[in-house]
Amino acid sequence: MSSFRTLDDLGDVTGKVALVRVDLNLPMKDGSATDVTRVEAVKPTILELADKGAKVLLLAHFGRPKGQRHSTMSTSFVQGDVEKVLGKEIMFIPEVMGPVVEQSIGILRNGDIGLLDNVRFWPGEEANDPEFARGIAAHGDFYVNDAFSAAHRAHASTEGLAHHLPAYAGRAMEAELKALDAALGNPEQPVAAVVGGAKVSTKLDVLENLVGKVQHLIIGGGMANTFLAARGVDVGKSLCEHDLKDTANRIMDQADHAGCTVHLPYDVVVAKEFAANPHSLRVCNVHEVAEEEMILDVGPQAVEALGDVLKTCRTLVWNGPMGAFETEPFDAATVALAKTAAALTEGGSLTSVAGGGDTVAALAHAGVKDDFTFVSTAGGAFLEWMEGKDLPGVAALK
Ligand code: ADP
Ligand code: MG
Repeated sequence: MSSFRTLDDLGDVTGKVALVRVDLNLPMKDGSATDVTRVEAVKPTILELADKGAKVLLLAHFGRPKGQRHSTMSTSFVQGDVEKVLGKEIMFIPEVMGPVVEQSIGILRNGDIGLLDNVRFWPGEEANDPEFARGIAAHGDFYVNDAFSAAHRAHASTEGLAHHLPAYAGRAMEAELKALDAALGNPEQPVAAVVGGAKVSTKLDVLENLVGKVQHLIIGGGMANTFLAARGVDVGKSLCEHDLKDTANRIMDQADHAGCTVHLPYDVVVAKEFAANPHSLRVCNVHEVAEEEMILDVGPQAVEALGDVLKTCRTLVWNGPMGAFETEPFDAATVALAKTAAALTEGGSLTSVAGGGDTVAALAHAGVKDDFTFVSTAGGAFLEWMEGKDLPGVAALK
């Protein structure tokens, strides 16, 4: 894992200008952030560099301005939230290069922090224009990338800068890469993968990558319906991609050849209407789903058996809820399996890594988000990593 440099490899940075790519794309309501998790994630890197006497310039995108200045998408909108989390005043700099940036650097004292404007105001960012990257790089002495969540994009601030300046992974990036390596790069075996969520079509590459790497592939959620249907099970009115029958069968064949056991539910929770606690709710065997019923969660017997599978494993990687967890009681399987995984993690027998927008929400709902070894909030980047792709922002650090 020493294939990239970290802050530990920095020499004396006193008075040096650090260009630090962070994720400040915060969810906003009425002019302030509703969730500052992303700022908290990059706080250690920012404060470490500031404490060491660097002049820290934060570089981030905010919204999708598509290469133009947009009055509602300036990073100045998150300045207050960033200051609150850091416990420090920072200087907003309404450019990313040129004389204004140069003058601001002159005003900043060692250990001070500046916030550059939305890097996506300039078309060179998303085009990964080397001239644009060179223009930003001219202001810095070194580059730190602490935005894993943007690492699947080859943009100037996430990839290009690494070609013009000495490049380092920040602390959040370092932690993410270590956790991901422990889960799929170089995991302790046996490894189980839980893949759930709504649709197979959005996670085909994930499934194909996993069958070659894990010993147990646990399929839940709406995706399980597609696999069950491919095996000839009548899934009634369930969410199901019938046109992916051949694909599902091919994945199961690939798993067979690779020695990966595919686990599909054998009992399920069904209802005739999708609502909280519907009258038509019942638990049945997968072969007993009626024509007008929908499978909305994995059944209790299957969940117990899946918990037993996890007990035999050393590593777990999880993306996608097991059922329609936003609506009770279809959260039961997700909650139960998440609690089992959390307990095994606490007991020391399991390394557990999870990610995905709805997955993070589901683990928080189960009350175990902090009990997993690592929970990635990176969304798209996490999924591309699960697909086995080389992320450009990570590759550029190597
Ligand atoms: P993530 O964001 O973690 O990658 P997905 O977006 O793939 O996860 O899937 C999450 C969605 O899948 C949730 O909104 C959940 O309600 C839905 N879902 C899970 N199981 C079912 C099911 N059996 N039927 C319909 N929707 C389901
Ligand atoms: Mg989702």
